[in-house]
Amino acid sequence: MHRRAFTSKNVVLPDAKSPQPATIVTDTETGKIVDIIPLYQARDGLEDVEWVDCGGSYILPGLVDAHVHLNEPGRTDWEGFWTGTRAAASGGVTTVVDMPLNSIPPTTTKENLDIKRKAAQGQCWTDVAFWGGLIPGNEHELVGMAAEGVKGFKCFLIDSGVEEFPCVQPDNVKNAMTNLKESESVLLFHAELESDHVHAAAKPGADPTLYSTFLESRPPQLETDAIGLVVALQKAHAGPLRCHIVHLSAASALPAIRAARKAGLNLTVETCFHYLVLASTDSIPDARPEFKCCPPIRTAENRDALWEALRDGTIDFVVSDHSPCVAELKRLDEGDLMQAWGGISTLGLGLNLLWTEARKRGFGIGDVVRWTSQATAKHASLEGRKGFIKVGWDADLVVWDPEADTLIGKDALLFKNKLSPYEGMHVKGEVLQTFVRGSLVWSKHEGGFIQKTPNGILI
Ligand SMILES: [Zn+2]
Repeated sequence: MHRRAFTSKNVVLPDAKSPQPATIVTDTETGKIVDIIPLYQARDGLEDVEWVDCGGSYILPGLVDAHVHLNEPGRTDWEGFWTGTRAAASGGVTTVVDMPLNSIPPTTTKENLDIKRKAAQGQCWTDVAFWGGLIPGNEHELVGMAAEGVKGFKCFLIDSGVEEFPCVQPDNVKNAMTNLKESESVLLFHAELESDHVHAAAKPGADPTLYSTFLESRPPQLETDAIGLVVALQKAHAGPLRCHIVHLSAASALPAIRAARKAGLNLTVETCFHYLVLASTDSIPDARPEFKCCPPIRTAENRDALWEALRDGTIDFVVSDHSPCVAELKRLDEGDLMQAWGGISTLGLGLNLLWTEARKRGFGIGDVVRWTSQATAKHASLEGRKGFIKVGWDADLVVWDPEADTLIGKDALLFKNKLSPYEGMHVKGEVLQTFVRGSLVWSKHEGGFIQKTPNGILI
């Protein structure tokens, strides 16, 4: 066995309150962790191994970004496996879980899953897993797709923005729940719902370049109504099947989520970096569609309540919802927020963004790792392999400096369309190296990507 040992004074191990000295021994052939010794430079018996000595830099488990739109095949001018996973690796993300929509075809049948896997083959710099999609009429496909390795199924309760991925009706959800009831799968909901009383539309005559116009067009009630419907359907039809709310923005939905959990429902919730870092009341300029996403980024007060929900565990974890498009669709020239594509580009920036805000609020790096690696890996059924530094698990490791001052410049945006609300922002933290299954993929001080060809696998 050829072994490589990673050693640091600050390793973020599972369940540890703070980083600890440790030496992580890996098998270079399998890419697995074979031993963890709770000492810095534990050289006894390891004379013949290759050493990666990180000194005081932190070693974290690689991030698992469980909500990413890579858009390939079909909308490869928006993003792609190659560019998306390179952006991910540069920011310490070692696994991305791709969303079923915005690619053409969407991942809604076994055949379409095969098409997507073929498109991804040989192009991924991180490991990649896939969500499937639930649309009206494909409920009978779900069990078969789950058997093929799809981690769960996403659906929309409101127009998705692309015609090949229509939103579902309650009956479709009921059928899906009935079919998946006995499985280990999960149903993911884009939780915004229009009703006779509330529509996703701007007030007549309102200026479409004002952020407030857009914000008022997607009121919190769209989210609270949708979550009310999900909870009612889950209670009636889902049995033990887990349901999951993607990208929660409206803090006003938190009481309903807490009540549903208290009543015993297997319901989980994610929020995104942008809802925790940005706020309409202090950091969003008008006429800047880079800041547009659905549901929208709300007030600072709302943001504080989301942080409290992370603290008390109501929100389980944090993802990017990286959802780019080509520049023309962002309508940067007109700054028309109502017409622009909704989606924020974040892939690879999340760790430092979240850390910058989390440390101000008294959280430690262990919390950030729990929200971005451990809980997201569990969510995407990657337990046993990803998200934790543990013996027998994949050696997905990030060497990271928590104290570095980093300016997010255009050169840091490695995704295809270099438009992001974070450009020009100063953050704390810098990813120095990213190892996927024990091999060095990306190294800050060695000029970026180390290997000539990507070695990510599809899982
Ligand atoms: Zn999304």
